[in-house]
Amino acid sequence: MTQETSQLELFPLLTEEQIAKKVQELGKRISEDYRGKELLVVGVLKGSFMFLSDLVRAIKVPLAINFIGASSYVGTKSSGYIRINHDLTTNIKDRHVLLVEDIVDTGETIDYLCDVFTLRGPASLKVCAFLSKPEVRDMSHRVDYVGFEIGKEFVVGYGLDFNEKYRELPYVAKVLKH
Ligand code: 5GP
Repeated sequence: MTQETSQLELFPLLTEEQIAKKVQELGKRISEDYRGKELLVVGVLKGSFMFLSDLVRAIKVPLAINFIGASSYVGTKSSGYIRINHDLTTNIKDRHVLLVEDIVDTGETIDYLCDVFTLRGPASLKVCAFLSKPEVRDMSHRVDYVGFEIGKEFVVGYGLDFNEKYRELPYVAKVLKH
């Protein structure tokens, strides 16, 4: 099934049901791994907002939520650098930080943020990505929890955009042409 829009042709890749099941699995694993601890969940804006809001409801340990804004892409092409455009509003020193990313592509964004966070002295730092494109990067980039591994295709929906559109879709779709 394809869905014609005025600009893009989209092909559904992950359904709402598949996503909901995966989020529950991740929440369970994270809750077990952090049992007895308090978490600081940090969402990378804007793409992670929908995943984060579902994920935190599936995590059963006490937690706080904060956001960091980082961008590396314009359209579907990397602009070649990462920029923090909205910093955390809380101190992460001695806290158990779980960085939540929408998608790990080359891994540059997450590497950069991990370096920045490590300098701030958290008690621990782990990364949870909703999607990962393992073919694109060398596997030295660390991602502790991954929802789904996908191919090289550009995807939208469930928080992910194409020039700020399609974030609101409750499922993930592959962009067929643009
Ligand atoms: P990386 O630094 O890992 O190469 O890129 C990560 C960022 O690139 C993500 O947070 C996301 O904003 C963007 N990105 C990478 N692949 C895709 C994709 O398939 N769709 C969308 N919408 N954004 C992507």
